[in-house]
Amino acid sequence: MSAGERRPGGPARPRGRAADGAAPEARRRALSELRDTVVNCRRCPRLVRWREKVAREKRASFADQDYWGRPVPGFGDPAAWLLVVGLAPAAHGANRTGRMFTGDRSGDWLFRALHRAGLATRAESTARDDGLELVGTWITASVRCAPPGNRPGPSERANCRPYLEREIDLLEDVRVIVALGGYAYRHVMRIFRGRAWDVPSPMPGFEHGLEVELAAPARPDARAAAGQPGRAKGRRPSADALTLVASYHPSQQNTFTGTLTEPMFDRIWARARALGPA
Ligand code: SF4
Repeated sequence: MSAGERRPGGPARPRGRAADGAAPEARRRALSELRDTVVNCRRCPRLVRWREKVAREKRASFADQDYWGRPVPGFGDPAAWLLVVGLAPAAHGANRTGRMFTGDRSGDWLFRALHRAGLATRAESTARDDGLELVGTWITASVRCAPPGNRPGPSERANCRPYLEREIDLLEDVRVIVALGGYAYRHVMRIFRGRAWDVPSPMPGFEHGLEVELAAPARPDARAAAGQPGRAKGRRPSADALTLVASYHPSQQNTFTGTLTEPMFDRIWARARALGPA
């Protein structure tokens, strides 16, 4: 299926939710266990050294604060229909506060936009305990430790990939993924290609507002009925289609230069909402 196409009938209705819209308890527990695993991870020696060095030395303006200095787990609504994927924690943002996109200029942009779209309860995100909650949304990253120069290496990306894969497995209600920046876009595309999903090939080039429909492989019983016994690796239990929406990252490099404006960013979230459940 090519980029920009929509499946007939639109996104599937979320399943696996309790009647009150809450996520099942087992999912909450599994996400909590994943969080505990992530925050104790030391798989990438270079990134462990860097995140801890930044946390010790600090930026002068935050000298009186205790930096988190550990991997930053994803956070949000366990019943999320929208998954937001960034690149990696910022050295003095999430690596300081311990929550994705919290405490830096990119986060200021992101949470203001999410709040305008009704996807976050507050427009400011300053600390892990500031009371902000996400609505139907989960925020995560391709790599969970702050990398020098915002550039994780290929082996570090590979080391961290299972954590994002696990979130994708657990967040069964997700129907829309917004990738912030080309790095996250390509990473998500590679993950679904690795799961034998129907992913456009060649991969469409990254551009702001690009939409790519991703379709799950057929169930083994359906394949067998069609005389095509084969792979069902990575098939999520309930979703059979997702839409990946690509957006410029709200980095200062993009927002200061006008590459990304607030109206452009608002259109991404409005489109995500239109693609999500009614
Ligand atoms: S980047 Fe990911 S895999 Fe590497 S140490 Fe951090 S949490 Fe672990």
